[in-house]
Amino acid sequence: MNIQIAGSDCIMCAERIMIEKEGTYCYRCDTPLCRECAQPDCICPVCRKAWDDPASHYYFSEFCPGCMQKNHNHEYCGHCDSPTRWPDKSSYDQFFVAHHAWVRRSPLVGSLMAAGGLLVIASPFLIAALGISIGIGIFFLYGLIFVGIPIVANGLARIIKGNRRSGFR
Ligand SMILES: [Zn+2]
Ligand SMILES: [Zn+2]
Ligand SMILES: [Zn+2]
Repeated sequence: MNIQIAGSDCIMCAERIMIEKEGTYCYRCDTPLCRECAQPDCICPVCRKAWDDPASHYYFSEFCPGCMQKNHNHEYCGHCDSPTRWPDKSSYDQFFVAHHAWVRRSPLVGSLMAAGGLLVIASPFLIAALGISIGIGIFFLYGLIFVGIPIVANGLARIIKGNRRSGFR
């Protein structure tokens, strides 16, 4: 569900809805309505049934997907601002699958990053030990240590985050 509410005209009063929070829509037929017209007992002019409030389909995750703080039916996490509300259960299910695919990849992706970073850090020492001449000063090569450290750190962070976020639901 990705309907553009801001800039649409309300189907009932024809007023332009200027900003997102001034409007809503009918969940059944995606028709934009302004907040004033969208009353619990109104009839949607397009599908001719009682207005289907999108809020009644909202789905809240039990945890924040970012920091794993417990979520109590809030739109955003109070700690890290990650979205913790989905338009409906099927949107949440899609997110859930993608989230856990990311979690499952984390040990492999993180390990590869860390190993790559270690290799970068080790390379000046290897080159020095093997006596390979590279034409530039070996001191420049030692600068690679500072390139490698953040790669290793990011790799380890990915493993830790993946592990921490594995209980998301
Ligand atoms: Zn209206
Ligand atoms: Zn409708
Ligand atoms: Zn959070």
